[in-house]
Amino acid sequence: MLAASLIPTEVPGVGVLNSAFEAVVDGLRSSILGFAEPEDTQAFHVPPVISRALLERLGYVDAFPNLLGTLHTFVGDNRRWRAVQAARLADGAPWHSEQTISDVVALPATCYHLYPLVAHQTLAQPVTMTAEASCYRHEGSSELGRLRSFRMREVVRIGGPDDVPAWRDEWLTRARTWFDGLGLKTSVEVATDPFFGDAARMMAPPQRQEELKWELRADLGTGQAQAIASANYHKDHFGGLFDIRTGGDVAHTACAAFGLERIVLALIAAHGESPERWPASVRGALGLGGTGR
Ligand code: AMP
Ligand code: ZN
Repeated sequence: MLAASLIPTEVPGVGVLNSAFEAVVDGLRSSILGFAEPEDTQAFHVPPVISRALLERLGYVDAFPNLLGTLHTFVGDNRRWRAVQAARLADGAPWHSEQTISDVVALPATCYHLYPLVAHQTLAQPVTMTAEASCYRHEGSSELGRLRSFRMREVVRIGGPDDVPAWRDEWLTRARTWFDGLGLKTSVEVATDPFFGDAARMMAPPQRQEELKWELRADLGTGQAQAIASANYHKDHFGGLFDIRTGGDVAHTACAAFGLERIVLALIAAHGESPERWPASVRGALGLGGTGR
C-alpha cells in the first residue's frame, strides 16, 4: 500500500512528490474543474515564470520583495566567462559573480498570468478563467505545508462591482462545501497578505477592515491551521492597471486560490497517509476508484 509522500530534498521547502501523492493532486484538479464548469470557465496553461516588468508595475516588488524569486543569467561573452572561471580556480571566487537579473521572475501566484489576457477590453459579461501553475515564494520558514515551490489552482472572476464580491462569497461557500465532502473541517477567517516593510503598515489594515482576503484553514497535522484555499477581492486594482472595463466602469476582480499540496497534506492529516484507505466517499470525489473503507 503506497503512502502519499512529499519527499524532502536538500533545500528546505522544495519537495518531490511520489505517485500516490500526485494521484490525489490529479483528483483535486479534476474535482475543482468539475465544480467550476457551469460558469463557462475559460481554462489556460500558464508557465512558472512571468515578466519582471509586469510584477514591478503591479507593485508586487514593493509589497513582497522578500518572497519574490528572481532569475539571473550569465549574459557575458566567452572571454568574460573565461575570466570568471580563472578567478574561481585562482581564489575560489563565486561562479555567479557576473550573473545579471533577467526579464522574467519566478511566478508567485497563478492569477497574475490571467488579467493581462483581457487587458484593454470592455467586457460585455463577467469573465471566469482558471489555470494552475507551479509557484515560487522565498518563504522564511519551512514547517510542514510551507513550501517554496508549490502548485496553485486559481479561478479568477472579472466583472462589475456587484457581480465580483457576490461571486467571491459564493465561491467561498462552494469551496467550503467541497472541503466538507472531502472530510476536511475548515475554518473561514478574514486574513491579510504577508506584506513586507512599510507595505505591512499601509496595506494590511485596510485589507483586513474591508475583508478583502478570506482563507479556508485546515489542520495539516501540526496542530496549527494553515490556509488550504483563499479568496481575494481586489476591487478595481487590476481592472485599473490593465485597463479592463465593464460598460463604463473599471472592472473589479477576485480570485479563488487552492494550494494543491496543502490540500493533500490536510487530507493525509484527516484520513491517514494511504489514499487506498481513505473513506469511499472521498476516494469517489477524487476519482481514485476502489471502495476504500
Ligand atoms: P495566497 O495567494 O497567499 O492567498 O495563496 C493562495 C493559496 O496557495 C493558499 O491558500 C495556500 O493554499 C497556497 N499557498 C500559499 N503559500 C504557500 C506555501 N508557501 N506553500 C504551500 N502552499 C501555499
Ligand atoms: Zn490570485
